[in-house]
Amino acid sequence: MEKQKSKLTKILSCISGILILCSFLFFAWGESTQTAENEPENDSFKNFEGQWVRVMDDGSTEPMPVPGECDAEKGEWVTIQTILPKDQQDTWICMRSMQQDMYIYVGDELRKKYSTLETQPFGKTSTMTYVFFEVYADDAGETLRVEFMSDSHYAGYVSDVYEGDRYDTFIHFLYRYVPSAIVSSWMMLVGIFVIAGSIFVRFYYKRKADLLYLGEGLVIAAAWMLVESKIRQFFLPNSTIAMLTGFLMIAVVALPFMWYMNSVQKGRHQKAYHIIGVGLIINYVLILTLQLLGIKDFFESMSLSHFLILAFLITMMITIIYDIVKGYIGDYKEVAIGFAALMLAAVIEILLSHNVAARSNGIALCFGLMMLLISAGLKSVKDLLNIEKEKQLAIAAGEAKAKFLANMSHEIRTPINAVIGMNEMILRENQDETIAEYANNIKDASQTLLSLINEILDFSKIDAGKLDIVENEYSTRGMLKEVILGAQLRATKKDLSFDLDIDDDLPKRLIGDEVRIKQILNNLLSNAIKYTKEGNVTLSAKGLETEKGFVLEFSVKDTGIGIKKEDMEKLFDSFQRLELGKNRYIEGTGLGLNITQQLVALMKGTVGVESEYGKGSCFTVRIPQQMIKAVTEESDAEQQNAPTDETKPVGTLCIPNAKILAVDDTEMNLFILKGLLKRTQAQLDLAGGGEECFAKTKEKKYDIILMDHMMPEPDGIATLHMIREDEDNPNKETPVIMLTANAIEGVKEGYLAEGFEDYLSKPVEVDKLESMLAKYLIQNN
Ligand code: ADP
Repeated sequence: MEKQKSKLTKILSCISGILILCSFLFFAWGESTQTAENEPENDSFKNFEGQWVRVMDDGSTEPMPVPGECDAEKGEWVTIQTILPKDQQDTWICMRSMQQDMYIYVGDELRKKYSTLETQPFGKTSTMTYVFFEVYADDAGETLRVEFMSDSHYAGYVSDVYEGDRYDTFIHFLYRYVPSAIVSSWMMLVGIFVIAGSIFVRFYYKRKADLLYLGEGLVIAAAWMLVESKIRQFFLPNSTIAMLTGFLMIAVVALPFMWYMNSVQKGRHQKAYHIIGVGLIINYVLILTLQLLGIKDFFESMSLSHFLILAFLITMMITIIYDIVKGYIGDYKEVAIGFAALMLAAVIEILLSHNVAARSNGIALCFGLMMLLISAGLKSVKDLLNIEKEKQLAIAAGEAKAKFLANMSHEIRTPINAVIGMNEMILRENQDETIAEYANNIKDASQTLLSLINEILDFSKIDAGKLDIVENEYSTRGMLKEVILGAQLRATKKDLSFDLDIDDDLPKRLIGDEVRIKQILNNLLSNAIKYTKEGNVTLSAKGLETEKGFVLEFSVKDTGIGIKKEDMEKLFDSFQRLELGKNRYIEGTGLGLNITQQLVALMKGTVGVESEYGKGSCFTVRIPQQMIKAVTEESDAEQQNAPTDETKPVGTLCIPNAKILAVDDTEMNLFILKGLLKRTQAQLDLAGGGEECFAKTKEKKYDIILMDHMMPEPDGIATLHMIREDEDNPNKETPVIMLTANAIEGVKEGYLAEGFEDYLSKPVEVDKLESMLAKYLIQNN
């Protein structure tokens, strides 16, 4: 029923559309073809039919066609005359010649004078106007003499001459010229609207709006049609200014259309357009200067403007043909069709302008311009839709990339976890020195591999804008201690001395992203150690009080290979390694400094470097951190004594009474955990998935649960919720630690929000694991 109704609605609305269209077609057909019923009564308006002769200087006469022209020089005064008929009635005559100064006599009486020779501001040519004068019955048989002059190549030309009473003449003018004036005014309004809209889009949405050019083009074309209108003398006070403006409009009208075309053609043919553009601009300045200085009137210089417009049209056609051949036209085919419509309209306009009776003066051109605007509008809408589509695709691609990274991170970390874990067990249980050396090498190599993966993941995260700075309160010395321990170990291995210059006044606790600061320092320190063969590496740290607040300043100085001046600017580029030949044997991705710089920028800090090639480098990082308002001595001491990973010596944890449940779907991971925890003597139960874990938690109370995230249904998070929501579960309150290889999505906060007590990333570092167990088991007992 629903469906039928909507089909019927469709048919009915279709018929309604056709009926509306028919009504308009009926109007157009009837008004243009049917016999006129509303001709003015006693219509006296008609062409003035006089037998005109030209009176030569010697008094002789020769026939003169009116409308028509005689042979006359520029600026030469021409006299023409006719005899008013015997039955002359009282009436008005209106006469228009081209760029005239005109004196009209009936008998010897000067009946009308139209001259702008003294009033026009520039140049020497007056403009076209209908000059109205009265003749009376008494003038019958008198000579009507017209003396006129034009200082242009229109010299000697007389245009329309009409007679009729003023009202009838006015009605005829209205009938003939007002439609085009209305259409051009309307086009001017559309142009202004398009300009305003484009400016709004440009500044509000910060988006390129090519339609601005077309808006300008429409306004210029409309202004040209209005100032050139034959009835301009009825609505503009100064026809000379209107005429001059018309020339200026012609001189610039091609420019906006050209820039529009250049833009939709994506600048492929801009050289040609630039040449024509420069030509048009020079032409404008030149013809205006010549006119103002009275050297050459626009009439005499206008062929230059016409030539340039023609050059633009020909160039545009060639570029369109070129683009059709090369297959670029798809980008802007609507616009090309629009321009074709405009050209067709221009041809129709030129043909119509030769037909005196044609009423639609300028309307065809307006129609062509509107077609162009509509087609350009269509293109803009299409472009917008495409941008939106591309945005959606980019978002989808970004999501796919993030998912891929999360999976990759998980997949790569899982086997590394196995390698590191197994190796750790070999190191613990083996007595043979050679095997211990091999195992230590495996340990170094797998750590390097892990840090490479971490760098690439960090880089992708920053690239995708997914790396967030997580601010927490932290112990400054604790943070430094961890960094220093690692660096000291590496420096000692290379026989470098590692010096410290830590300011005693450094605040004990700060608020900031401790993890990222450690990452920055580790990067700089490991570079300093990597790129130094002998000498020393120094880490300095101090606090600065600045206008913007407290700033932590670190510098890492080395006596290494140094950096060449010309390499300085490439230093922070991604994947950029300097002096590859020399440093080939030093491991690295060229990402460390790029990540460092981006992390520092995310924390609104700065990083700088000074270096002397062959002598050493000094990297300085400044990062704003928040101070803690009041740190009491007590709370500080409390914090320092708290069992944190900094204070807990590795391998001393002995918890034979602790009941631990480890959950992981990868058997190898469980095996490693078992190995790592063996030394603690804890009672360890294993579960190979969420269901098994849930079943075990129902039967036995554990002190802590170590849970993997990515497992077949239910995953780690779902299993945690099952335990927490199970009212009778003895482990409802048991701390659950998320232990996952998911380093991308698995930001600690996310897991804590799900209800996990804490988070450890895989590969599990044994000291961190032991510290965490100590923390929760000591708290609980
Ligand atoms: P890599 O992983 O190659 O060390 P980084 O982005 O950390 O990548 O460093 C980029 C390049 O800058 C290095 O390849 C090295 O040529 C140069 N570089 C970095 N730190 C130092 C330093 N302390 N002394 C000399 N050169 C350095």
